[in-house]
Amino acid sequence: MIKNLEKKLKKRSPLRKFGAMVSLVTTLMFSGIGANATEPGKMCIVLDDAGSTLRSYENLKKLKKQNVPLTIAVMPNSPYDLNSLDELTNYDNAEILLHQQMEPQRFNDCSWLQKGLELTLRNKKQEYNPKIHAAIYSWDTPEMAVKILGNNIEKLNDYLININSDKRILGFNNHMGSEVTRHPDIMTALAEYAKKNNLYVLDSLTTSDSVLHDISKKIGHSNTFERNGLFLDNNVKKTRPLEFLEKYKVGIENGNSYILIGHIDNDVTVNDIIIFYNNGNKLSRLSEMK
Ligand SMILES: [Zn+2]
Repeated sequence: MIKNLEKKLKKRSPLRKFGAMVSLVTTLMFSGIGANATEPGKMCIVLDDAGSTLRSYENLKKLKKQNVPLTIAVMPNSPYDLNSLDELTNYDNAEILLHQQMEPQRFNDCSWLQKGLELTLRNKKQEYNPKIHAAIYSWDTPEMAVKILGNNIEKLNDYLININSDKRILGFNNHMGSEVTRHPDIMTALAEYAKKNNLYVLDSLTTSDSVLHDISKKIGHSNTFERNGLFLDNNVKKTRPLEFLEKYKVGIENGNSYILIGHIDNDVTVNDIIIFYNNGNKLSRLSEMK
């Protein structure tokens, strides 16, 4: 993931000619590009995979107790998706996204990718059943992709309405998707749907080849974002998320804003976010990143 982001930043950085690229990219990642010195930037943390495991559900309760300002991405048709919505409905400082499952690269060769995509996999020959299926595959037509996204959002929103919640699904980001997000036809259809329905688009950028954010911008959808910071828990054994979070503070003071992604079923990530917030650091939700 870091490699992908580095590749993308390399493409964009005007300083690419100078110095060792990896260290430069790492420096840019934390100190920011195009600083606006007049006022500090913002940090938004999106926590993915809500609903996927019991641990994700327990960690959500922990974050709610502290009312940490976060954007929580709920995975539809997952074991704890609806329980997570029960918690989120009165978690004041949380915003909710749909964590839209999308086929990754090397999907057919990796059993762990297959296991992590959705509970009941769908193949080309099977008919889509919204009760058990939730993921978008690269062989889906753009119309089918929109239908799946729409059904997933509707299902979660219907539940929120049923429990008299004031909250709604504000938009979506991609779960996996290194294959699907490279497909311009599917991404155009999803971006058009998001624009029409006033939904936020967040490109998780699981591949530097993703076209979701670029297409969304091109069609004039103003509420579109992409991850421009690290995946917080990429390698927690080597670097603690808290260490990464602290490093972004310099860039924020210099006027840069960051959207980072972590995983709610990762205890270290969740505990470090709580520590970071309780140390007095300001966190913003996705809607505040405009
Ligand atoms: Zn995910």
